[in-house]
Order: sequence, then C-alpha cells, then structure tokens
Amino acid sequence: MEDRRKLKILMDLEKLNTLNEEGCLACGGKFTLGEEAVLARGKWEGFKYIHEDEAFFDKKTNQHYERRYYLNSRR
Ligand SMILES: [Zn+2]
Repeated sequence: MEDRRKLKILMDLEKLNTLNEEGCLACGGKFTLGEEAVLARGKWEGFKYIHEDEAFFDKKTNQHYERRYYLNSRR
C-alpha cells in the first residue's frame, strides 16, 4: 500500500519542466499542472512517468504498466 502511493506523483512546475521534454509516452501528449502520473513499464526502456489513467497496476509484480502494453504482453 505504501509503495503504491510513493509511485504516484502530482505534477508541479518543476516536474513539468523536466518531464514535458519527452511528455507522456503512453498518449504522446504533455502533462499539465496538478495531473497525477505514475512510473510505469511499457514499450520503452525501464520506467517512465505516464498519466495515471493510462496505467494499469499489476498486483502480482507490484508495478504499473501502460495499459495497451500490458494487454498485448499477456496474449
Ligand atoms: Zn498520457
């Protein structure tokens, strides 16, 4: 429970400046102030911040995944 909360961040100006160079890799859009983002695995290397509603939390591995990536990888 505690771990899960730690993974979620709220976008402030500092984070926007850093993360919007790449933007959200799940939808290709940018983050906006006050949005929630989580560190997730996807078709990219390692973990990246994506919008929380584009992520799926897998209880087995205790990690967030980009939804489409997660569904495809389970086929
Ligand atoms: Zn997104």
